[in-house]
Amino acid sequence: MGRCLVSGAPGRTTRAQRMAAPLARNVVKDLAAEHGACLRPVQLRRTEIDTGHVEQVLIPCGHTLAAVCPPCAERARILRAAQCREGWHLDHEPIIDPDPATEEQRALITGRAEAQEDRDLLASAGLDVSELDERIGELDEEITEAGMRGSVLPARPRRHRSTRRRQDAAPLPRRPVSARTIGKIYTAPDGKTFRPSLFVTLTCPSYGRVGDDGTPLDPDGYDYQQAARDALHFAALFDRFIQNLRRYTGYDLQYFAAIEPQKRLAPHVHLAIRGTISRAELREVIAATYHQVWWPSTEAVRYDGDCLPVWDEYTGTYLDPGTGEVLPTWDQALDAIGDDGEPLHVARFGARFDAQGVLAGSRDASRCIGYLTKYLTKHLGDCHQASSDAQAAHAGRLADALRYEPCSPACANWLRYGIQPNQARPGLRPGACKGKAHRREYLGYAGRRVLVSRKWSGKTLADHRADRRTWLTSMLGLPATDPTRYSWEPVKPGDLDHMPNGQRLLHVVADRIQWQTALELARRRATGADPSATSSAT
Ligand SMILES: [Zn+2]
Ligand SMILES: [Zn+2]
Repeated sequence: MGRCLVSGAPGRTTRAQRMAAPLARNVVKDLAAEHGACLRPVQLRRTEIDTGHVEQVLIPCGHTLAAVCPPCAERARILRAAQCREGWHLDHEPIIDPDPATEEQRALITGRAEAQEDRDLLASAGLDVSELDERIGELDEEITEAGMRGSVLPARPRRHRSTRRRQDAAPLPRRPVSARTIGKIYTAPDGKTFRPSLFVTLTCPSYGRVGDDGTPLDPDGYDYQQAARDALHFAALFDRFIQNLRRYTGYDLQYFAAIEPQKRLAPHVHLAIRGTISRAELREVIAATYHQVWWPSTEAVRYDGDCLPVWDEYTGTYLDPGTGEVLPTWDQALDAIGDDGEPLHVARFGARFDAQGVLAGSRDASRCIGYLTKYLTKHLGDCHQASSDAQAAHAGRLADALRYEPCSPACANWLRYGIQPNQARPGLRPGACKGKAHRREYLGYAGRRVLVSRKWSGKTLADHRADRRTWLTSMLGLPATDPTRYSWEPVKPGDLDHMPNGQRLLHVVADRIQWQTALELARRRATGADPSATSSAT
């Protein structure tokens, strides 16, 4: 059983002949991929509430990495492209009005207001407020659970740092930011109007000259530490840039941005920006943008090799292995920086950037959307596979630089520099932090790959997905399913109706082919191959 004989060769076959026959299981997988079906479908049990009728439903895994599920990753990429396209040249303000608060929500906020007043009264009388603080904490949780966004009070005030501008960065004119999110309209001499938008690429500064293959000409002179730190803080720098850009342009500028590695393995960002800004203005904002990282110094390595701080179960802190002294906490270490201290790192963009105006629906627009979504289905570290020893060595040196660089206040690496990581817990080992930024495939950047401003298309990714589904069901003439009609539960491996992945794949291939045929038919009908049927098409 299971032996696959090569046809036309009766009797014995050689091993090579047998190996040349395709593996049935792989053919199923290939077929699934070819038809855009998920390779790891998830099985759900769907019960019709009224009748109790049970059906097995296979839904796509929805993974965004092609290494895991190519068809799902490709679908996710196309969805991002649709989101990008829809917001880029929007000519009307997206309406994002929050729903009015319900009675329950209003009652919760009233309760919260009273608790705050009681608490502040006690506090001003110098009495114990711990009980009320606890009540306030519970109320805040209830407020979130009741479906309200944000919190009634701003987050705890951050440690005060001098907000004086750095002397080495040019000041930036500030304008009040209006609520407008759409770009300006320009009128050509012939009376035609157009609303251009912008495609911008921002890069990190130079860490040393590199060749065409992205590797440094002088590896010893290449600043891997700065490269590592810039990658770790790239997302914060990007936030700063957007903030500055909005203040500079005076409107609530919207963007769709994708973060990708360059060949030299430094992150860069492509942005589709709604509205337009001149190159000179962009240059000014880039030059004035920086992000200061106010973290303790990592200059002195205090613990290394086998001599590492030890966890003390009793106090819940790390101690010096020799003296038993408690290491300074994260907050103490921050307080020790002092007013005339220096930030651990100042992140900036490189002076080189790229900007081009793009018109709605143009071929340029499509090309740029292609750039913006090109690498989304890959890990950062997999976008440029090392194909030479020099490239592998370069990637290795960057990974080494990232190994002991703290990735966050909670990073295990702080122990190396004699500081308790924020929210320290047992089992932390410098050089073995679990933070994603240290892993090779992330190249120091563990943030989100696509950053979309809130008023880009006025829709979430789920909304865009629903759009596609609506289009599909209307195209196929299917009735919209009522979400209250069914109950759903996942099917677990031990369950009697559980299907192994191979069986699921066979189902999705069959289903996929069936509805692709139906869709093709509907399309042909809609384009007028059969005029009698076009009336129902949109
Ligand atoms: Zn999948
Ligand atoms: Zn870390």
